[in-house]
Amino acid sequence: MAGTAVRGRLTWQTATVGAVSDETPRVRTLILEVPGWQGHRAGQHVDVRLTADDGYQAERAYSIASAPGEPLTITVERLDDGEVSPYLTEEAQPGDQLEVRGPIGGYFVWEAESGGPLLLAAGGSGVVPLRAIVRHRSQVGSSVPVKLLYSSRSFQDVIYSSELDFPPDGVEVIQTLTRSQPPSWHGYARRVDRQMLAEVAWPTADRPLAYVCGPTSFVESVAAGLVGLGYPAERVKTERFGATGQ
Ligand SMILES: Cc1cc2nc3c(=O)[nH]c(=O)nc-3n(C[C@H](O)[C@H](O)[C@H](O)COP(=O)(O)OP(=O)(O)OC[C@H]3O[C@@H](n4cnc5c(N)ncnc54)[C@H](O)[C@@H]3O)c2cc1C
Repeated sequence: MAGTAVRGRLTWQTATVGAVSDETPRVRTLILEVPGWQGHRAGQHVDVRLTADDGYQAERAYSIASAPGEPLTITVERLDDGEVSPYLTEEAQPGDQLEVRGPIGGYFVWEAESGGPLLLAAGGSGVVPLRAIVRHRSQVGSSVPVKLLYSSRSFQDVIYSSELDFPPDGVEVIQTLTRSQPPSWHGYARRVDRQMLAEVAWPTADRPLAYVCGPTSFVESVAAGLVGLGYPAERVKTERFGATGQ
């Protein structure tokens, strides 16, 4: 049985696109139906592979947006000049088929026994695996306190906004909008910096655990900021999405 599970993770499996929903003008959530999906943990990702009519293939990694036990779900931000994300955000329709491989990753995973308090920091689509962690926390009835510091370009770029407006008990959402803010905006209005982290982050005496995800530059600056505040580097978990801007 163990051999079957390992083979399942490493093998490309056919996925059928189920429901799709637009989160923002550039971001779409897709439910993927994978017969025999073996399940996943909060914080893992999958590889998605597309094959063109001429046989050309492209594969990219996408974090899993759903909690363990929920249908496999990804949330993709469109890069206009990208190869894969424009297809997933604009063309993929329910019933279309693609391939997935996974779930992948054991480091950027949160489970109840991982503890907390949790500082979750996201830049742009980096919120995707953190959403899975928040959902999993609710699912298992954990009361670990959570702060989610989430940086977006503008109000209309906020992913999962309806969920973030009503977070579960014990989850505080702190948002910053880096490029433009609506007139009534009461959150932060700049890129995440040392001062913001000092105001938001749990005191180090609480032995917090941090998960930082997003574009490489965001992840590196936030992780360095947290270490500068005294967070032990091994308690700051990072997931880099690449050079995409936020
Ligand atoms: C672990 C992990 C999880 C991820 N999870 C998510 C997620 O949940 N949601 C999400 O939206 N994204 C996620 N990503 C990012 C995702 O994998 C893709 O990188 C993203 O969707 C862009 O892919 P693309 O094919 O559209 O763009 P690409 O074709 O890869 O292009 C990306 C950018 O690089 C530029 N570029 C491409 N090739 C070159 C070149 N040769 N020289 C210079 N510039 C070049 C393009 O112009 C474009 O701006 C994740 C990445 C990782 C590693």
